Amino acid sequence: MVGGSVPVFDEIILSTALMNQVVSFNSVSGILVCQAGCVLEELSRYVEERDFIMPLDLGAKGSCHIGGNVATNAGGLRFLRYGSLHGTVLGLEVVLADGTILNCLTSLRKDNTGYDLKQLFIGSEGTLGIITAVSILCPPKPKSVNVAFLGCPGFAEVLQTFSTSKGMLGEILSAFEFMDAECIQLVGHYLHLACPVQESPFYVLIETSGSHAGHDADKLGSFLEHMLGSGLVTDGTLATDQRKIKMLWALRERITEALSLDGCVYKYDLSLPVERLYDLVTALRARLGPSAKHVVGYGHLGDGNLHLNVTAEAFSTSLLASLEPHVYEWTAAQQGSISAEHGVGFKKRDVLGFSKPPEALQLMCQFKTLLDPRGILNPYKTLPSRA
Ligand SMILES: Cc1cc2nc3c(=O)[nH]c(=O)nc-3n(C[C@H](O)[C@H](O)[C@H](O)COP(=O)(O)OP(=O)(O)OC[C@H]3O[C@@H](n4cnc5c(N)ncnc54)[C@H](O)[C@@H]3O)c2cc1C
Repeated sequence: MVGGSVPVFDEIILSTALMNQVVSFNSVSGILVCQAGCVLEELSRYVEERDFIMPLDLGAKGSCHIGGNVATNAGGLRFLRYGSLHGTVLGLEVVLADGTILNCLTSLRKDNTGYDLKQLFIGSEGTLGIITAVSILCPPKPKSVNVAFLGCPGFAEVLQTFSTSKGMLGEILSAFEFMDAECIQLVGHYLHLACPVQESPFYVLIETSGSHAGHDADKLGSFLEHMLGSGLVTDGTLATDQRKIKMLWALRERITEALSLDGCVYKYDLSLPVERLYDLVTALRARLGPSAKHVVGYGHLGDGNLHLNVTAEAFSTSLLASLEPHVYEWTAAQQGSISAEHGVGFKKRDVLGFSKPPEALQLMCQFKTLLDPRGILNPYKTLPSRA
C-alpha cells in the first residue's frame, strides 16, 4: 500500500521470525505476553483454545507478526468493537537505536505514571525502535457469532442501515462493512464468488458477536425484519454457521485480490466523516471518465474508513496526476486522514501535511532525532523527506 516494509535503497532487513514464543497468558484477565515474531493467526489459535480472541483480525493474519501489527497500528476487522491497538496494547519491550532495551512490558490496565512511552512506538513503522515483545489485552471469545449480508438501494440507505444497526443491535454489533456493486462484480468475475443476494447498488456486511445465542438471534431477527420492511434493504441473507460466515466474509475480504487481477491499481485508504464517505468515489468516476477501468469504494464504514481503488489497464502518469493531489486535497477539505490504517511508509511521507499541521510534523521529526539520531531505523519512511 505505502511501501512501509519495502527496502528502497541500502537497508538491512531484520527478521523477528524466530522470536515466536508466548511468554505468558493470564486466563482470568485475558492478558497475553508474547515475543514480537509470533504470527497473528497462531496467536489467535492459542488464545481461542483458552476461550479468548485476539482484539485484531486482518487479511494478512496468516503471515503477519504481532510486532508488525503493532508497528503499523493495523486496524482490521474487529476495530469497531475492540478499538485500536493504542487501547489494547498494554506494554511493549523495544530495542532502541543505540541498543538500549526499553522494558515497558507491563500487563497493567491502569498505569498513570507519566508519559505513556509505548504509544510512541505503536504505528511508528519501525522508525523509532524495534519491538521485541508485546503485552496485549484479549477479549473473551464470543459464544455466538452471526453475519448478515444485505443489499441496499443507495448510499443514503447504507448510512441509515448503519445508524439503525447501532440502535437495534447495540452491544452485539462487531463489524459493519460496506462495498459497492462494482466490488461484488469484480469478486464474482475474477474469483467466482457468488453473491447470495439480489443485485444491488450497495451491500453491507453486519457481524454480531455476543454471549447468548438466543438473545443475539432475537435481536438480529427483529433488526432484519425492520430493515426489510422499511425499504432500506432490498434483499438479505443471514449466516449462523462457520462455513457460511466464512463465505460471506470472503466477499468482503477478497476484494483487494480481485482488484489486483483487474490491472494496475491506484489505492487510497482514507478516514472521512461517515456521511461523506462515498462522495469522493462518485466524484472521481465523473472526473476520470474512461481513463479508469473501475473506480470502487468499500471499507470499514463503522470506522469511517474508505478504501478507494481505481483500476486501469496499465500505469499512467496522466491518470496519477488526475488522482493526486486531488484525492488528498479533497480529504483534507473534509478534515479527513490520508491514511486511515495502512500507514505512511515510503509513498505517503510527503503528503502527510494534508493530515497534520507543520507543528506536529516538526515534533515527529524531533522525536526521530532524539531516538534515532543517526537515522538507521527504517530510513526514508514515515517522516517527510524534506524535514
Ligand atoms: C493480504 C493483506 C491484508 C491486509 N489487511 C489489512 C487490514 O485489513 N487492515 C490493516 O490495518 N492492515 C492490513 N494489512 C496491512 C497490515 O497492517 C500489515 O501487513 C501487518 O500488520 C504488518 O505486519 P508484518 O509482520 O507483515 O510487518 P512487515 O510488513 O514486515 O512490516 C511492516 C512495517 O512494520 C515495521 N515492523 C515490522 N516488525 C517490526 C518490529 N518488530 N518492530 C518495529 N517495526 C517493525 C517494518 O519496518 C515495516 O515498516 C494487510 C496486509 C496484507 C498483506
